[in-house]
Amino acid sequence: MNIAVIGTGYVGLVTGVSLAEVGHHVTCVDVDNDKISSLRKGNITIWEPGLEELLQKNITHGKLFFTTAHAIACENAQIIIIAVGTPENEDGSANLRYVEQAIIDIANTITHRVTIVVKSTVPVGTAHRMCTILQENLQHGVSVELVSNPEFLREGSAIEDAFRGDRIVIGADTLSAFDVMEEVYRPFRIPIYKTDVRSAEMIKYASNAFLATKISFINEIAAICEQVGANVDLVAAGMGMDKRIGDKFLKAGIGFGGSCFPKDTKALIQMARNVGYDFEILNRVVEVNERQKVLLVEKLLERFGSLEGKQIAVLGLSFKPNTNDIREAASITITERLIRHGAKVIGYDPIAIEYAKNRLNEQMTYAKDLEAAVSGCDAALILTEWDEIKEVDVRVYHVMKTPIVLDGRNCYPPEIMAQHHIEYHSIGRPSAG
Ligand code: NAD
Repeated sequence: MNIAVIGTGYVGLVTGVSLAEVGHHVTCVDVDNDKISSLRKGNITIWEPGLEELLQKNITHGKLFFTTAHAIACENAQIIIIAVGTPENEDGSANLRYVEQAIIDIANTITHRVTIVVKSTVPVGTAHRMCTILQENLQHGVSVELVSNPEFLREGSAIEDAFRGDRIVIGADTLSAFDVMEEVYRPFRIPIYKTDVRSAEMIKYASNAFLATKISFINEIAAICEQVGANVDLVAAGMGMDKRIGDKFLKAGIGFGGSCFPKDTKALIQMARNVGYDFEILNRVVEVNERQKVLLVEKLLERFGSLEGKQIAVLGLSFKPNTNDIREAASITITERLIRHGAKVIGYDPIAIEYAKNRLNEQMTYAKDLEAAVSGCDAALILTEWDEIKEVDVRVYHVMKTPIVLDGRNCYPPEIMAQHHIEYHSIGRPSAG
């Protein structure tokens, strides 16, 4: 099939590449000239395992194209997928200006019947509203069908998720739209769940809100574990053996970040508010997460009294491992807070340093590796559980002024740290050293 993808960020690029990989003819369009010229050369603009190889392969095989012109992308497309960003407005609601612009761009270019697929995460009712805007702007005689197809990929394992996801959700109003979408996704052999458009839109928000709730829940348990002398990792493992609970998303730590959970939880709260409903649990989930993000700074203040002049290493800057994405990463909040307390911050991340520089350049210095980051420091904070950090020989911390490690991701067994005489504080587990 001929498919156009609008927006080549994390979702659009992975979608375009994976659709080309299963045999479709895909043209991706973006308003960002630099991104498009880099992608045309086969260079990825995000760090995602396995993505660059598939990108280059499908460009070479003539199945994947990039352009900045919507008219070129949409010209012969049977399907147009919208994958532009839906960032957060000040009140927490989803900002739909990029989606609206994409709809206008489509309306201005298409001259034939197409199926338009909203993959961006949008509040319930948006697809139908966009359909109305579209109908008003379409050339006479052109008709469209609108489908909701929310995305569930996880950054860091996006390619794996595209080919081995748990389900593909399709929300549509007509049988013909379901048929077209089944043709698009049949090669993936992933179960397709068909529903109405509004329910599909809600599935995305409800899923993210539920996962965020699991994280804040285990973080509340962790806070109690610290007080009563239990170990939250052991508790979570025991809970996760119950199939009704499941062992995923039960990792205590410094909370969730990234471009989805923080904004999607707030957007759902706002969506509920708009219909007069107070989503009490979710309000608390967000509050707990805010508290969790700065927990290590509080522990540090408790330990040192004042952070004035202290040299602190911040290990892991991306919001989670295997991505360069630092949107809503705990590293941003924590670094800003440390600097406000007068600390000198040295950052290290295996991949995300260049991206962090855009956001935090003035505020911190960067080290070339973990050892250089912690060398001579008063304390080290672990913010992202990269394998490189988890698997390091912990004796590396002896190059610090004082080996004090505050671990926001529970990377090391406390007994190992005690054995090596490293003072060690983690989340919801007994301290060591
Ligand atoms: P992103 O910010 O990485 O990428 C969006 C891209 O769209 C940018 O490259 C931007 O230049 C481009 N763009 C904006 N307006 C355009 C237009 N009119 N025409 C062409 N291109 C345009 O965003 P993302 O992380 O890929 O997220 C996209 C959507 O998918 C969001 O709604 C997000 O909530 C949702 N989502 C994201 C993830 C994730 O892990 N990142 C997972 C699931 C769902």
